[in-house]
Amino acid sequence: AEEVGGGDKEVVRNYFNNSGFQRWKKIYGETDDVNKVQLDIRLGHSKTVENVMKMLTDDGSLNGVTVCDAGCGTGCLSIPLAKEGAVVSASDISAAMVAEAEKQAKELLTAGNGDIAPVMPKFEVKDLESLDGKYDTVVCLDVLIHYPQNKADGMIAHLASLAENRLILSFAPKTFYYDLLKRIGELFPGPSKATRAYLHAEADVERALNKVGWKIRKRGLITTQFYFARLVEAVPA
Ligand code: SAM
Repeated sequence: AEEVGGGDKEVVRNYFNNSGFQRWKKIYGETDDVNKVQLDIRLGHSKTVENVMKMLTDDGSLNGVTVCDAGCGTGCLSIPLAKEGAVVSASDISAAMVAEAEKQAKELLTAGNGDIAPVMPKFEVKDLESLDGKYDTVVCLDVLIHYPQNKADGMIAHLASLAENRLILSFAPKTFYYDLLKRIGELFPGPSKATRAYLHAEADVERALNKVGWKIRKRGLITTQFYFARLVEAVPA
């Protein structure tokens, strides 16, 4: 494993512009050329997106609500948000990801036949540390896995500073069982293991939120055979 330090971000950027882009575009897509594990991860991730959409729409209509999708990937969340009328700012460290998200949004967000006219998200190549502005809601899904907890604290604080009302995060939970699975996985490094995966204890994430004056209001856990995500919705304390 590479050293934890300033080089991590470059490794992540490079991965998601190249082999990681190909791998995750497939997983997050709809084509049949995925293996069983990838299909399982696709299913788990789509459940996470569904859960987030439910959390957000349960609070009321998203029409006109500003949402920052930090680390948007191929737009799996940005696009359904836009369909609900949210004004989405979607960004990612990877230019390849942003280009793909924009392409899919153009295909899928046609002037609707429903009541709500989708607003085309604003796409930007930007790492989340350099995001600014204020949004009603900030969402950051499955990004923390690329960062150790000492970096994650700063990311959480920064994301909270951009949000007025809600911050939604998902991360791979550091539970005994998953920790064990990961350790077993590390004994069999394959070509897909191009980046390190970092698990986060829910208590650590909660502490980071509390430290900047936020509290967790809702929690969810999404698990399939190979996908594990803890979902938290935080609000100003
Ligand atoms: N959030 C998307 C989703 O759930 O569909 C994508 C999740 S994907 C596993 C992780 C994404 O985080 C990649 O697109 C990657 O380029 C992006 N990413 C990683 N580190 C980042 C950073 N520091 N700032 C912005 N994006 C980042």
